[in-house]
Amino acid sequence: MMKAVVLQQVGDPSRLVYQEVPTPTVTPGHVLVRVHACGVGYRDVIDRRGDVPMIRTPIIPGHEFAGEVMAIGPGVERWSVGDRVLNLYTASCGHCEHCLGGDERRCLLGNETFGLTADGGYAEYVLAHERGLERLLPDIPYDVAATLYSATGVGFNNTAHAAGVVLGERVLVTGASGGVGSAALQTAKLLGATVWAVTSSVAKADSLRALGADHVIVNGTGDFHKQVMAETGGEGVDAAIDCVGAPTLNGCLRSLRAHGRVVVVGNVDARRFELNLGYILVRSLSIIGSDNITRSALRQTMELVRDGRLRPLIHARLPLAEAAEAHRLLDARGATGRVVLIP
Ligand SMILES: [Zn+2]
Repeated sequence: MMKAVVLQQVGDPSRLVYQEVPTPTVTPGHVLVRVHACGVGYRDVIDRRGDVPMIRTPIIPGHEFAGEVMAIGPGVERWSVGDRVLNLYTASCGHCEHCLGGDERRCLLGNETFGLTADGGYAEYVLAHERGLERLLPDIPYDVAATLYSATGVGFNNTAHAAGVVLGERVLVTGASGGVGSAALQTAKLLGATVWAVTSSVAKADSLRALGADHVIVNGTGDFHKQVMAETGGEGVDAAIDCVGAPTLNGCLRSLRAHGRVVVVGNVDARRFELNLGYILVRSLSIIGSDNITRSALRQTMELVRDGRLRPLIHARLPLAEAAEAHRLLDARGATGRVVLIP
């Protein structure tokens, strides 16, 4: 048996129950990973609330874990007992056109998604498909590793690749004190941009300056574009990385210069969003969707973290038994960076 947190049915954090469940046994193509750390991000909250229809319950949540391979199933070729690993969001099939073409994140057939359709990392052990894992670089501790795929890596990937930020640009980051936003901010600085960071909390402003933000805007109402425009001489920024979603997307669009682009990374609530098409059209703006990161972008992220050039923010390390408390913290937007559960 093992300790795990089980989401019995979608709903509020009290639905997350810390209990004993059978330890998984290895099956063909799968490995048993001893979880050393599991990140808790806003995606976990969205899943817990039931905003993603594909979730099956009861399920062990957790789509961002890091740990050590303890046992390998028949046919596993990539891993050995003792390997240090972190997970990808989903296990790709390995043989569709996208997998063969090297872009596993577009896999048409992969169907084991941790925390949604397969048990995830809120547990002492997790059963993982061998293609759902990546090798963790030495020198990166497990708690940091548990922020790399869907927080640090997403911030990096969307700033460096989706937005394609280049030297000398002006970049706006919303939700800048979160796990994704703080990585986006640091990446934009690494690429040579001048950065405006938006946060809803005065208490978080100093930490954003410490991460390199040139301008910090404390704003909880979504009209931060007025300050951006004032501070850019009425011109606006070249790119915005929106790590919040509906409450901030309009402010991002209004902060862009003509021909500017915004990458939609966050989606904190599921409500529909109304667009002023005339404004998009007249200003020639681009709205770009976020995507899961590739293995190569994940490796880039790991190298930047190992070399101390990207510093993942960890708000708190909590014991596994306090998973519900971690969710309450995120519900209240009380975290600066990732919350990490330690089994
Ligand atoms: Zn595939």
